[in-house]
Amino acid sequence: MRKCTACGRARFWALADGRYKCKACGHRQREELSAWASIRLTDAQKRQLIERFVLGVPVYRQRFRPVCGANTAEKMYRVLRACCAYAEQWRAPFTGAVECDETTFGSARHGPRGWGALGKVIVFGIIKRNGEVKAMPIATHDRRAVMEQIDAHTREGSLYYTDQWQAYATLKLRGDHVVIRKEKGRPVGRDHINGIEGFWSYAKNWLYPY
Ligand SMILES: [Zn+2]
Repeated sequence: MRKCTACGRARFWALADGRYKCKACGHRQREELSAWASIRLTDAQKRQLIERFVLGVPVYRQRFRPVCGANTAEKMYRVLRACCAYAEQWRAPFTGAVECDETTFGSARHGPRGWGALGKVIVFGIIKRNGEVKAMPIATHDRRAVMEQIDAHTREGSLYYTDQWQAYATLKLRGDHVVIRKEKGRPVGRDHINGIEGFWSYAKNWLYPY
């Protein structure tokens, strides 16, 4: 909130409905809040929450040394994750040697297993062989869904390493395509997709408390 649009002064009461009332003239107005300003904590508190976010400390583990109420912390983290997802869109597509793979994240619930299992999120991932990763949820486990992501996040002419899933069959039209064949869980020959498989294992481990 900078200035009152009626009198130009800059002191306000915060109203319960989210609007602001000018302390001088009583004019009420709304403010378009940035993501940062939408969390009603001090900058120091927000920085502390971000540090814990980066260190991977879930809100329920912060309860012994809370920065603020759990609901506010949860809200802060929802906003942070939304910001990360937003920023993800502006990253340049990958070029060169990339590995593509899909997996599921989510509850190890009883019931149907596999790609359609309830409560699971299908995630598609691309790793560049310098270690950079992009991972994104996809709605269905099919060719259209993965090719959409490949179009959006890699440049034509890349070198793609994938498993034998037939959904990747058209990749050879987009660049070079190396299919990793596996026998008894081990890749045949020297080519591999250990990069993305290692990332899945790391990510699942990291995200387990959430
Ligand atoms: Zn005013």
